[in-house]
Amino acid sequence: MSKKPINFMRALTSNQKIDVKNTIIVILMPLLVYLLVYVTGGIKYSYSHLMYVAIILAATRLGPVMGVVIGIYGGILLGPLMPLDIDTGTSQQFINWFLRLIVFALVGGICGYTSSSLKKSIKTISNLFSHHPETLLPNKNYLREIEIEFTAEEYTCMTVIINNYELIVDLLGIDTYHRILKKIYMYLKRDLPSNSIIIQSDNNKLWIAKEYNEVYSDIYKVLNILKQPLNIDDITFYSEFSLGVNVVSGNDVLNLDTYKKTDIAARQAQKQNVEFVIFHKINLQRFSGFELLGVFIEALSENQTTLDYQPKIDVESNKLIGLEALIRWQHPTRGLIMPNDFILIAETQLIHQLTTWVLKKVIKKIKDFLSENIDIHISINVSVKNLLNKEFFNQVIKIVEMEKIDPSLIEFEITESELMVNPDEAISMLQKFQKYGFQISLDDFGKGYSSLAYLSKLPVNIIKIDKGFVNKVKKEISERLIVKSTIELAHKLKCKTLAEGIEDEETFKIIKRLNCDYAQGFFFARPIRDGEIIPWVKSKLQGE
Ligand code: C2E
Ligand code: MG
Ligand code: MG
Repeated sequence: MSKKPINFMRALTSNQKIDVKNTIIVILMPLLVYLLVYVTGGIKYSYSHLMYVAIILAATRLGPVMGVVIGIYGGILLGPLMPLDIDTGTSQQFINWFLRLIVFALVGGICGYTSSSLKKSIKTISNLFSHHPETLLPNKNYLREIEIEFTAEEYTCMTVIINNYELIVDLLGIDTYHRILKKIYMYLKRDLPSNSIIIQSDNNKLWIAKEYNEVYSDIYKVLNILKQPLNIDDITFYSEFSLGVNVVSGNDVLNLDTYKKTDIAARQAQKQNVEFVIFHKINLQRFSGFELLGVFIEALSENQTTLDYQPKIDVESNKLIGLEALIRWQHPTRGLIMPNDFILIAETQLIHQLTTWVLKKVIKKIKDFLSENIDIHISINVSVKNLLNKEFFNQVIKIVEMEKIDPSLIEFEITESELMVNPDEAISMLQKFQKYGFQISLDDFGKGYSSLAYLSKLPVNIIKIDKGFVNKVKKEISERLIVKSTIELAHKLKCKTLAEGIEDEETFKIIKRLNCDYAQGFFFARPIRDGEIIPWVKSKLQGE
């Protein structure tokens, strides 16, 4: 069962059922004031004013009616039941105590009314705060408002990313998208157990928590709901989803970290183009959860991270055309950690430090090459999170200008599937970089979805065809056809193409026949250590 922290908003706005403890306090307080006034000699002294405290407390806690009742009750206690002077036994004049009683009742009523109106306004504000302003669906803040007891031992929590969000908005407008989203929400609400939580955590994202049954049956239950046709104005829509899943204890259902993990898993599913990914199956075995975030900043500053450089080759001439920088993490106790094991998590917070670190290192390497009279360009893998950060462009330009480096020697590789999550903003950022002189390449092309429609809009110089396709061209005609048409399409769009992951001569020959411009892969060279790359390039250039 979860023990939730007391929430300020909730405490103020909670429905006031008859609360025994409050009622007893509220009834006792006027009695205490009565006793105090009595032992201090009667109503002629000013202690009687303490009754206002008791009345205001009753009114704000129990509402206007109880405010009036306690006002009258206090008025009687300090009226006919209280002498003016205890020593002489003089009693009060009727008009005095009666007027006081009326004032007490009025104060109780007005305070009660004002505080209930205030609570209602706070409730409205709180509702606005915890619901999406346009869809009116519960949002992230709602997690803090939830009052359900999580009694089951385990819960299946999920992030649902709506992959074709941008496409729907572009084609049908935001209003239709909101209607679709509300319909999805309604289906989930209707078909999942009533104690499930469903939240719209972002424009294209839902969070779900349901009592654990069995992880795959939970996943398929949700997938089946999501796959139902959505009828809006007699038109049937289907949405495309990527699911990230994590099984947690009741204590963690309201914990934001739970959903950070499901978000990561959902993005992994999106990247791999699969329906769902379960968080614990992501290759993070070296780390327990977010331990990494804490140590990664140190890793960057303490030179535990290094860059390997993988050569890129011109297919026709076999000449070296550039290098790709690939990050490595040499952990002091855990050994070498590859980027796929930490990039996704680093992306949650540290991607800016990481990318600027890589950029600075790469610039230094380009300068080292220049001092050896070698003019080579190096590519950097950039996360779409970098592009969506308003500061990133200025930061990069500042570094490049300070280092006085020609931007055309630097290339940014951006993964196609990531770009498609929020393409418009990312594209306009890429345009700025391209205009400034940087080269742009679209990484892992083919792994994403719905990209053909966008391809013509993308400001890219090179399309890197995903190794998933490239390494199948030997055996599968369909993959060969995909690669062939991608190359043709790219050429029509005046882009160069690069085939990733070439591991053998046969694949290289096919790629060459298909007119691919550049190639990269173990067949030519594996990623080369930082300290060895200059000698390697020198000997390669000598051999050319
Ligand atoms: P990527 O950008 O597509 O890089 C190519 C990956 O394929 C590299 O893996 C490389 O070692 C591997 N590779 C190259 N040739 C072959 C081949 O012939 N066969 C096979 N099987 N693999 C080959 P690596 O270094 O493990 O990097 C994985 C991914 O991590 C990269 O994919 C990139 O998306 C990301 N990454 C690497 N360094 C950085 C970085 O500095 N920043 C960011 N944001 N991401 C990075
Ligand atoms: Mg790359
Ligand atoms: Mg790639």
